[in-house]
Amino acid sequence: MHRVHALLGGWMRAAGMQVHVDAAGNLRGLLPAAEPNAPRLLIGSHLDTIANAGAFDGILGVVLAVAVVEQLVDDARTAVPAGKGMPFAIEVIGFSEEEGVRFAKPFLGSLALVGDLDAATLARTDRSGISVADAIRAFGLDPAELPAAVIDPSAFGYLEFHIEQGPVLESEDRALGIVDAIAGQTRMEFIFTGQANHAGTTPMGPLRHDALAAAAQWVVEVERYANTTPGLVATVGKVESSSGAGNVIAGRFTATLDVRHPTDPVRQAAVGHYIDYARVAAAARGVTLAHTTSIDQPAVPMGSGLSAQLAAAAARSTGREPRSITSGAGHDAMIVARRVPAAILFLRSPGGLSHHPGESVLPQDVEAAFASGVEFLRTLRDDRAMLQLVAARTPPRKREDLHA
Ligand SMILES: [Zn+2]
Repeated sequence: MHRVHALLGGWMRAAGMQVHVDAAGNLRGLLPAAEPNAPRLLIGSHLDTIANAGAFDGILGVVLAVAVVEQLVDDARTAVPAGKGMPFAIEVIGFSEEEGVRFAKPFLGSLALVGDLDAATLARTDRSGISVADAIRAFGLDPAELPAAVIDPSAFGYLEFHIEQGPVLESEDRALGIVDAIAGQTRMEFIFTGQANHAGTTPMGPLRHDALAAAAQWVVEVERYANTTPGLVATVGKVESSSGAGNVIAGRFTATLDVRHPTDPVRQAAVGHYIDYARVAAAARGVTLAHTTSIDQPAVPMGSGLSAQLAAAAARSTGREPRSITSGAGHDAMIVARRVPAAILFLRSPGGLSHHPGESVLPQDVEAAFASGVEFLRTLRDDRAMLQLVAARTPPRKREDLHA
């Protein structure tokens, strides 16, 4: 990561940016505005990655951010009339620890940016017993300086370029998408408890309490309900049967449930239905049901004004309206959205592949994203009314703990 910071930081400095690494290990590059009290636009994504990853998740967004800033700086040297300098500052951020690999908690860098990297998180340890705070020190930084990493009050918006990591844009032959919301998610565990017994001597009917049969009926309903509810994704990803033998009725069966939707009431209604249905499927067999919820995370809407301007810029520069798309995965933008309106531009993921060495992007899609970003920034630069409109923002909401 030190070498990544040196390379990207060098590119940032060459573009005229002031560069430092904050106490959370985020690489920060600031292109100042013409006037000192100007509003500030943030553009970023993450620099960390998972093991055995692809080459584009996260870092493409940071490189694109540096590239669009280079273009704006180039404009100022050549095309923009003297005296018409940048009316807003641009801060490029390469976030640390978005994936949550080392400390089993994602978004450490962006949490520091919004001032929510709390003492409990700093005390979390990795598998070797090294805490987040110790890791920060080992990297050559000082956790006591975390308050200085918090977002500047002049920030009015956050833009993130990121690969889609899914198959939707490719299936519609589209290069780009604008994220409308990061889906809310519920994660639960269901425990069906029946009666283990002999498969041969226990007759079918009311004397048999088959936990697996109850759960199986429920799993099929999870899929059917999601199939008929637009935007809903619901998954039973992990199951465990207490019966280890083919001639024993399963007395106990546990199953996970993952439910996601951009609208919280739709997600909550789905969860309610799944609980009711599981209870009915269980009761029909004299099986009891218990369930626990480990994550109940609201959807995070993206900043609508910022997203609309980004979509318009993408349409002008590519000749095609980008598709509105919901992100099923978490991104730094959903943390930053606690403080400033955020917008995400998705680039098509060939094969829908991500978190895999085969992850890729098409060069023409990167060009389209670059052109959209440059057009967006030029519009904000040249249209003061537009800048005022976008920079006028509603107070942010405080969010619960968030998960990737
Ligand atoms: Zn990512």
